[in-house]
Amino acid sequence: MISVEEALERVLSYVHVLEPEDQPILDALGQVAAADVISPLDIPPLDNTAMDGYAVRAADTSGAAESSPITLRVVGELAAGYIFDGEVTPGTAVRIMTGAPMPRGADAVVPFEETDEPSGRAFGSFAKSRGVVGVLKAAEPAANVRRAAEDVRRGQPIIPKGTVLRPAQIGVLASLGMATVRVHRRPIVAILSTGDEVREPGTPLQPGQIYDSNAYSVAAMVMANGGIPKRLGIAKDTVEALTAKLREGLDADMLVTSAGVSRGDYDVVKDVLAKEGEVDFWTVRMRPGKPLAFGAFRSGGRRVPHLGLPGNPVSSMVSFELFGRPAIYKMLGRSDWDRPRVRAIAEEAIANTDARRVFARAIVTQRDGRYHAALTGPQGSGMLTSMAYANALAVVPEDVPGVRPGDEVDAILLD
Ligand code: AMP
Ligand code: MG
Repeated sequence: MISVEEALERVLSYVHVLEPEDQPILDALGQVAAADVISPLDIPPLDNTAMDGYAVRAADTSGAAESSPITLRVVGELAAGYIFDGEVTPGTAVRIMTGAPMPRGADAVVPFEETDEPSGRAFGSFAKSRGVVGVLKAAEPAANVRRAAEDVRRGQPIIPKGTVLRPAQIGVLASLGMATVRVHRRPIVAILSTGDEVREPGTPLQPGQIYDSNAYSVAAMVMANGGIPKRLGIAKDTVEALTAKLREGLDADMLVTSAGVSRGDYDVVKDVLAKEGEVDFWTVRMRPGKPLAFGAFRSGGRRVPHLGLPGNPVSSMVSFELFGRPAIYKMLGRSDWDRPRVRAIAEEAIANTDARRVFARAIVTQRDGRYHAALTGPQGSGMLTSMAYANALAVVPEDVPGVRPGDEVDAILLD
């Protein structure tokens, strides 16, 4: 039996960051930049106004006050998206809307609130206006002006290689005018359930049969973590059936099977790997999830890493969380697979009877400035609801025989 750390190290040694591809920016959410993104332009492209108001020459407004307004002649009106073709000469102003480029000659913007047009009447009403504006407050040079390139300068590296593209990065790429971005390809994860008793949801169940939940929880985890699931269906518990189905997954970057890794007579995943590939390890010192086959499946010149998850639904999810998710991250080009952990006060006892590392399904809450961990109920590895209610895994180390209420535990935050 190997430790959780050693198992993770071995799994990670089988996978590598995938090759780059050009991806439409929105599809790249959660992918990793494969090259520095260099800005092709200045943002903003021109000096422009940060406020609705009047573009003026600051010097013209010197001394303006509520009690002694300075009157300027309004020589035009400008919305965002247009260039003023005249010039603001001494004694004049241009009525201007947020985002509009500064007219030539103007060096400051007086907001409507600081003029005798405090409400800023509807755009287009200039023709009906008086043709003059009273400025009630002196403007400093550059007041309310956004400088060209104050956010982004052309040629500047904006998104360094290795950055995970989150919504803000997607927005930045769009602001640079980019429709696509170079990212590491998403891993394709082929998922196969095994077991004579396992049936597809949506079909009738005969006595003794159960629905396939593992393929769905694992496929959902693949998607949630940036991979592409390829569902291969359900294989019977025979070496031939399993081998045939696994061959359909040879174009994937990783094969994931569920069940067939314990010591039962019909547990065939290890047999297949031993015959058509290699088994690197098959037990990990943890609960749930001790039986976990890992190695590679070989066929037709291909060698694909193979993670053989245990059949019990909770074991299958916890094992995929601990080993499958980091593998997906590594292939995506990420190295931040360690989840945040907090120290929490156990609200109930957690047993550790046989010196394995226990991952108990827990609900972590924050009260009075401290974290508390309550279990989600019975912890049987077949009880998938214990996982569904959890937002954390409370960890009891191998050398700790159990946790009592009030003891501190490490909790891995899942959300
Ligand atoms: P095994 O690893 O084949 O011994 O299976 C362990 C337990 O997990 C058994 O109770 C199986 O019925 C159950 N199981 C196996 N495959 C699935 C699956 N795809 N979805 C839900 N439960 C499963
Ligand atoms: Mg079985």
